[in-house]
Amino acid sequence: MSTFSQYNFKGQKALVRVDFNVPLNDQYAITDDTRMRAALPTIQKILNDGGSVILMSHLGRPKDGPTEKYSLKHLVPHLTELLNPPGERTPKATVLFANDCIGEQAFLTANMMKPWEVLLLENLRFYKEEEKGDEAFAQKLSKLGDVYVNDAFGTAHRAHASTAVIAKFFPAGKKMFGLLMEGEVASAEKVLHESQKPFTAIIGGAKVSDKILIIENLLERATDIIIGGGMAYTFEKAQGGKIAKSLCEDDRLQTALDLLKKAEAKGVRIHLPSDSVIADKFDAQAQTSTAPSNNIPDGWMGLDIGPMACEQFANVIKRSKTILWNGPMGVFEMEKFQHGTKTIATAVATATQNGAFSLVGGGDSVAAVNQFGFTDKVSYVSTGGGAMLEYFEGKELPGIAAINS
Ligand code: AMP
Repeated sequence: MSTFSQYNFKGQKALVRVDFNVPLNDQYAITDDTRMRAALPTIQKILNDGGSVILMSHLGRPKDGPTEKYSLKHLVPHLTELLNPPGERTPKATVLFANDCIGEQAFLTANMMKPWEVLLLENLRFYKEEEKGDEAFAQKLSKLGDVYVNDAFGTAHRAHASTAVIAKFFPAGKKMFGLLMEGEVASAEKVLHESQKPFTAIIGGAKVSDKILIIENLLERATDIIIGGGMAYTFEKAQGGKIAKSLCEDDRLQTALDLLKKAEAKGVRIHLPSDSVIADKFDAQAQTSTAPSNNIPDGWMGLDIGPMACEQFANVIKRSKTILWNGPMGVFEMEKFQHGTKTIATAVATATQNGAFSLVGGGDSVAAVNQFGFTDKVSYVSTGGGAMLEYFEGKELPGIAAINS
């Protein structure tokens, strides 16, 4: 397997799978370009080497073929701007567009491409073959470029034509991860397979059922697992606690007990919040108080970890050398219930400053870290929600396996 950084793209046409699935408003203006920015280092390296770039992506979930709303042509002006920042002294990058990802126009344009040209292909999902992982479709796409680069970590858990199947049509040495994907894989590997101890996993969010596989996989690797958020109350109730109106999955009580038993057998310390911030209703204006997490008064519900739990969890985090964080500690979207998540973010930042490696990945903890301004204070924030979750669960991601094999 080649590494992207070592490869010289001079005179080569690189076919790059990116994740340009950005949100657009009614006027087709991009409302958040994070995913486009994340792919820039990869595109720029190829252009700087003297190569040309053919970009393929999906956008949204088109059901019936080509749809104006899901056309990638809306991204061309902004991509041109991003690739030509004011004051930059590199040659000007030109962005071309092909209105069919495998049509004649795409092949003719690709054949005539010159260095510093970027060709954006129309939405791959206008063809049902993309999500079906159709081989013939993947083979047609593969003919567009000399080298295949996968930089779409967000879809690495899908065995689609452009994310996995296509790799078989490129020989070893001509298929590789882009810089974004390399960073994601290296961070996940560092946490899951090269972790320094103590290794603390912080798992929060709403439901136990969403996180069982992650916890089971981490029981093999972590020294400490902190459980916060709504899912903590299923663990409390399972052990005989009184949780009143707090979130609970009654069909997972036994699962929670089994996980606690497994942790004990493996010598993994499980930390549940000793107290909670409680509310009289699920509302930003609710009345609040604090209570032990296993003795919540009737009519109340736990919506955040309490002050003692904050201190208890922060102490565990601060002495850790490796930290993985998935899921908020409370209903962080409401101001009254965001203190726990903020305290944990601060503790993770402190541990990182003291030399720990910290990875925040998968869903709402990423949103929380961004919202509270901690993005630059942790070692790595993953861009791939579902893909990172599956990685944490210990699954082999098709997009990664296809390049490695
Ligand atoms: P997840 O997607 O599983 O990580 O869950 C994130 C969601 O869990 C967020 O929208 C939080 O508001 C919610 N959440 C966190 N703690 C609680 C809680 N104690 N009760 C209800 N919802 C919670």
